[in-house]
Amino acid sequence: MTPKGPDMTLDAAPLADFADPALHAAGLYIGGDWLPGSGIPVLNPSTGGGLAQVADASPAPALRAGDAAPSAAAGWRATPPRQRAEILRRWFQLMTEHAEDLARLISLENGKALADARGEVAYAAEFFRWYAEEAVRIPGEFRHAPSGANHILVDHDPIGIAVLIPPWNFPAAMATRKIGPALAAGCTVILKPASETPLTAYAMARLGAQAGVPPGVVNVLTTAQPGPVTNAMLADPRVRKLSFTGSTGVGRVLLAEAAKSVVSCSMELGGNAPFLVFDDADLDAALDGAMIAKMRNAGEACTAANRFYVQSGIHDAFVVGLAARMAALKVGPGTDPASQVGPMITPRAVQKIDRLVTRAVNLGARLVTGGTPLPSSGYYYPPTVLADVSPQAEIAHEEIFGPVAPVYRFDTEDQAIALANETEYGLAAYVYSRDLSRALRVGKGIETGMVAINRGLMSDPAAPFGGAKQSGLGREGGVTGILEFMEPKYFAVNF
Ligand code: NAD
Repeated sequence: MTPKGPDMTLDAAPLADFADPALHAAGLYIGGDWLPGSGIPVLNPSTGGGLAQVADASPAPALRAGDAAPSAAAGWRATPPRQRAEILRRWFQLMTEHAEDLARLISLENGKALADARGEVAYAAEFFRWYAEEAVRIPGEFRHAPSGANHILVDHDPIGIAVLIPPWNFPAAMATRKIGPALAAGCTVILKPASETPLTAYAMARLGAQAGVPPGVVNVLTTAQPGPVTNAMLADPRVRKLSFTGSTGVGRVLLAEAAKSVVSCSMELGGNAPFLVFDDADLDAALDGAMIAKMRNAGEACTAANRFYVQSGIHDAFVVGLAARMAALKVGPGTDPASQVGPMITPRAVQKIDRLVTRAVNLGARLVTGGTPLPSSGYYYPPTVLADVSPQAEIAHEEIFGPVAPVYRFDTEDQAIALANETEYGLAAYVYSRDLSRALRVGKGIETGMVAINRGLMSDPAAPFGGAKQSGLGREGGVTGILEFMEPKYFAVNF
């Protein structure tokens, strides 16, 4: 592969002091081989400096990965579930043993605060443990046909080669949430990490090989041309699954592309989560939950609370409390243990957040704290609270993906539900109320795949994660996640 891309001075120091240098990798991982390459610069959002160069695959090596995965497929499919489970369990163990190195790597390439990165590694590894446990519990059915004429037997086969595309915001967890169930189901995979955060994926692939994942079962390739490379893979008739996590816009493009060869799609797309606080909520608990729901990953999460709807009786106290907590957060480089809020992923992300805040203010929103990008070579935006925001403002309809909390006022339960549903998205929602009947009633009324009640966090490998409306198709995690990578096969049986 010809190295190309901008010349760049690498800021080698951050990677040099890793406890385990074997975790460094910068080449395509195909069929168990590391193919050297460069061309995609990986930047450190905390400084704007360079971290590494990774390989830039064109469609040709992507097709080679398309050969590696099928040649490993028969062996992996025939590997007993118990053995697949034990490999996944060892991979969980190795991720846990290397948790600190992985967290630092995530923090370096993504910018998130170390505490968030440590949380991500633990969460990511849990998908391997959970799917190690699920690999040996693949369901089937056997029952009488209602006519009494025969029996119905339902088996589940691995669906086939799977292309996995995660985003940059959880470079470890969004990959393991796909690799875990795919491998448990007996599928081989081609993982295409986001170009912003490829180092974590390559480091995890090294650990996978140590755990005993056979060559070709997990292939990893980075590319600066995700469209053509993905299209080439989807056109390969051996590829039967696309599992994508990212923006709704790219999801729509990929659904159209997958339609050409009728590839099965799981889509985890964008969010615009409402966070509802009723007058009868425990104010401190609601503020604690709000900080988690908003500030995990500095707001760069699909489940991030994007719109705070607060009932009139508690509204003013909530705004004051939230602003005090947000203003007290320490913003700084992700790898600095004192930092609570790291930088955004790119300068473009900062510009988008700034635009949304400025336009909301122009429409009458009151800036309670924050509101101006921080001067630095890194990409920092301060924790920001906006009150009296117009529901017409662009910020009410777009994913902010940053540390900005817009607060809106409501009066009645029906009004809150209607406001919460005023979006094309339907991923996650939060409800705070001491009245559990009301919280459940409101939760039922909100059109999302997930609702957290009196909690600021809902992600759990043991629960079905996913969205309604334009937030996605299918679910990851839980007991059904493995079925996304399986094809049911029905036998009509007489005996
Ligand atoms: P993105 O859609 O820009 O990119 C996601 C991935 O798709 C990346 O790997 C990117 O390289 C790749 N990609 C981009 N264009 C492509 C194309 N034409 N063909 C194939 N691949 C392509 O999203 P992002 O900015 O990386 O991530 C942020 C988005 O992800 C937000 O909208 C967020 O809500 C969403 N997200 C959703 C979930 C979920 O579980 N629902 C989880 C995390 C993030």
